[in-house]
Amino acid sequence: MKCHNCERKAVITLQHAPACEMHFINYFEDKVFKTIKKYQLIKLNDSLCVAASGGKDSLTILYLTKKYLKENNLKNKLFALAVDEGIKDYREHTLIDLKEFCKKYGIELKIVSFKEEFDSTLDEAKSKINGKKPCNICGVWRRYLLNKYAREENATKVITGHNLDDEAQVILMNIFKANTGLAAQLGPVTGIKEHDLFVQRVKPLYFCTEKETKLYSILKKFQVNFAECPNAQEGYRVQIRDMLNDFEQKYPGTKQGIINSFLEILPLLKNKALEQENGKLKQCQECGEPATQNICNACKIAEELKCAVIQD
Ligand code: SF4
Ligand code: ZN
Repeated sequence: MKCHNCERKAVITLQHAPACEMHFINYFEDKVFKTIKKYQLIKLNDSLCVAASGGKDSLTILYLTKKYLKENNLKNKLFALAVDEGIKDYREHTLIDLKEFCKKYGIELKIVSFKEEFDSTLDEAKSKINGKKPCNICGVWRRYLLNKYAREENATKVITGHNLDDEAQVILMNIFKANTGLAAQLGPVTGIKEHDLFVQRVKPLYFCTEKETKLYSILKKFQVNFAECPNAQEGYRVQIRDMLNDFEQKYPGTKQGIINSFLEILPLLKNKALEQENGKLKQCQECGEPATQNICNACKIAEELKCAVIQD
């Protein structure tokens, strides 16, 4: 099959037409840069922290953020922040890829860990806390550390590698669980309103599919380990992912349809959440980080873990 724009061999069929390597790369980069501009994900004085793990999405967004700054002659501070959750036979490998990548492209890298912060790796925590899925512990601690250390390094934006598939999955998860309050936090720019303790999270890969991002990272020859986290299969998300992939195959455009519909109702969800949120945000009495109750979720999990260890 030939590219829609030239005589070269196609490497992918995009929504409307096949594309060769060069035209696909141009299309992909153009889409990311347009998203940054349209949603003002990077402003002139922003100090940028890229949440990185060494996976395909984070290496792609690290590379493209650097490229975007260079092409637009911007001098924003940029660094990568990685969280080592302590997932044996998995995270240590992706962190090696990340260190190599940052060295190659001259990007400062900071690594923080569950072990240092919470005195427990994810592997240790999941074996001690019953009734909590590893992804639930991981998600809470990971978001906590990214926000805390991005803020400590004076970052004004945390750039994440979430792609269109990730977002479509989370939208459905929140709808299925009737979490419209949480759904209001989604979108290319997360959060409902700016807050001193929260560093705003932004998603330049918002309109890029998983398939496109994977192909981009392969064509750019990034050193990526495509293995999945060993805990992924235990999560609710993986079932939503499989269902969505199945639907996408039968009805192409399903995922994009979810995103488009969601973006139309997002302003309404945000307004509703704003009305309900008035005065709700507090500071955790244990650690001082933002919380909706007296103790934040990260401290609650750490406390549960301590109790489980004492009972042992
Ligand atoms: Fe953490 Fe679950 Fe993702 Fe693994 S799959 S990194 S445990 S959230
Ligand atoms: Zn706390």
